[in-house]
Amino acid sequence: VKFEELTELDKKHFLHPSTSIKQHMENGPGAIFTEGEGIYLKDVRGRKLIDSLSSLWNVNIGHGRAELGQAAAEQMARLAFSSTFAGNSHEPVIELAKKVSEWTPGNLNTTFFTSGGSESNDTAFKTVRHYWKVKGQPNKTKIISRSLSYHGVAMGATSATGIEPFREFTTSLAQGFLYVDSSIESLKDLIEKEGAENIAAFISEPIQGSGGVNPPPEGYFKEVRQICDENDILFIADEVICGFGRTGEKFGMDLFGVVPDIICMAKGISSGYAPIGGMVISDKIKNELMENYEGNFWHGYTYSGHPMCCAVALKNLEIIENENMVENVRNMGEELQKGLKYLEETHVIMGNRRGIGLLGAIEFFKDLEAGERYSEPVSTKVVAKALDRGLLGRSIVYGGQDTLAFAPPFCITKQEVGTMISIIDDSIVEVKKDL
Ligand code: PLP
Repeated sequence: VKFEELTELDKKHFLHPSTSIKQHMENGPGAIFTEGEGIYLKDVRGRKLIDSLSSLWNVNIGHGRAELGQAAAEQMARLAFSSTFAGNSHEPVIELAKKVSEWTPGNLNTTFFTSGGSESNDTAFKTVRHYWKVKGQPNKTKIISRSLSYHGVAMGATSATGIEPFREFTTSLAQGFLYVDSSIESLKDLIEKEGAENIAAFISEPIQGSGGVNPPPEGYFKEVRQICDENDILFIADEVICGFGRTGEKFGMDLFGVVPDIICMAKGISSGYAPIGGMVISDKIKNELMENYEGNFWHGYTYSGHPMCCAVALKNLEIIENENMVENVRNMGEELQKGLKYLEETHVIMGNRRGIGLLGAIEFFKDLEAGERYSEPVSTKVVAKALDRGLLGRSIVYGGQDTLAFAPPFCITKQEVGTMISIIDDSIVEVKKDL
């Protein structure tokens, strides 16, 4: 009864993100969640589901960690809000900025805080343009991003996103955004065509998430770093998914031995327990803006450095450190890849297994060698069957792919990885009957 009542109210009053309004009116909510613990979510109908994508690649420490609630409550009781504009500060934001700089590589030491990934990327786009203006090169404005990238839904972030439906949702985008495929030659050609003197920055996720868990080609980022240096183009790493341990390294770019000029972060910094993100800049950028510009950094959100969010993020990072969770990501990542390998060997229709750490994917093909697809995606059907068996899954079908993606919480055990794979295995067996 509760489910039905809630369903009606949801349909009547709630506009869901990234959801078809029409289909939602027909089908109602998929699940209405009520609580979570570890890798599991429970819903109002009493179903217990494995959260195989850590919800939105973000609940990294897992659900139900009461310490974060306590940290939030204590901070709220003491100081729920104070502004960080005009140079004012408070303890949690100072401590978090220091903690972030301990995690980030090289000379990336200064953080601007936001409420999420989209805001972090928009902040970075404005910052790089401001930087070149301060350096006397106001024409360096263009931003290069990659096909199948996802950078969020603010106007700049949407404009940088390489997954087309997100861009096509609206009629006009921000100016000066360019897209490139994943070959080095294409990047060089684009820079040549547009002129390095007009390009402010290149942005990429270390491993693309929403676009299908796509690792870069071998040696890609090392070459990109070099090309950026040779052409005076700033390198922005969108670490919103990969940052804070998801790949088994502190940051995804660590996998490739590359240090960007700017790191954008969100999701994993608080494991989704509070909405917070950030942009970390290198000392080079900071010094330039400090020494050669006297005006304000004319950019700031009311919730830049929200005390409660900072306190929650600090507690989250403390848990990741104290419980050696990044090490568990590496170990369980191997188990996940073993599981995907098992699926690939068991089902001839599966291939293109990929990923690292607790970020993995595998695809369906009608004919693997010919690269031929089924007319309707198989991954979506498998996800539907898996739900009946107790797993909340994610299928990705952008750009003609037919992908199952996995990004479970860092606290997952070997046995739980096994359960996840066996639910998927059984679901595939069932779907195959009707192919
Ligand atoms: N960048 C990446 C790589 C993401 O995966 C996301 C969200 O999925 C974003 C940016 C946008 O972050 P948010 O949804 O917090 O605005």
